[in-house]
Amino acid sequence: MYIGLIITVLMCGYVLYPLFVRKYKGGLSSPDISNKNEAQFIRGILQDLEFDLETGKLDEEEYQKLVTDQNAVLDKLAKEQSDGKANRGPAKCAKCGANLQRSDNFCPKCGAAVF
Ligand SMILES: [Zn+2]
Repeated sequence: MYIGLIITVLMCGYVLYPLFVRKYKGGLSSPDISNKNEAQFIRGILQDLEFDLETGKLDEEEYQKLVTDQNAVLDKLAKEQSDGKANRGPAKCAKCGANLQRSDNFCPKCGAAVF
């Protein structure tokens, strides 16, 4: 009788724990961090899918479809991240107006630091 109760409590904890964790993760404000977490999460799913394919839980067709879906999300995340980078910093030097490369930390013409 006690064992039944303990098992019930453990089951509830097992089911509810991920919900709490997810809620906590959802509270992070930085989009960079949540994007990274999401990408990691999707890579985990891809590994699971590969495992399911190898163990015969998924057939090749289902596997390909699911992998394509997850890769589409990964691409979207990567694009969002690179868009964020592209929007950061000016394309021209604020001091002398020379054109800058995205990768430049200093202006190639006047040497001013690029922010
Ligand atoms: Zn300059």
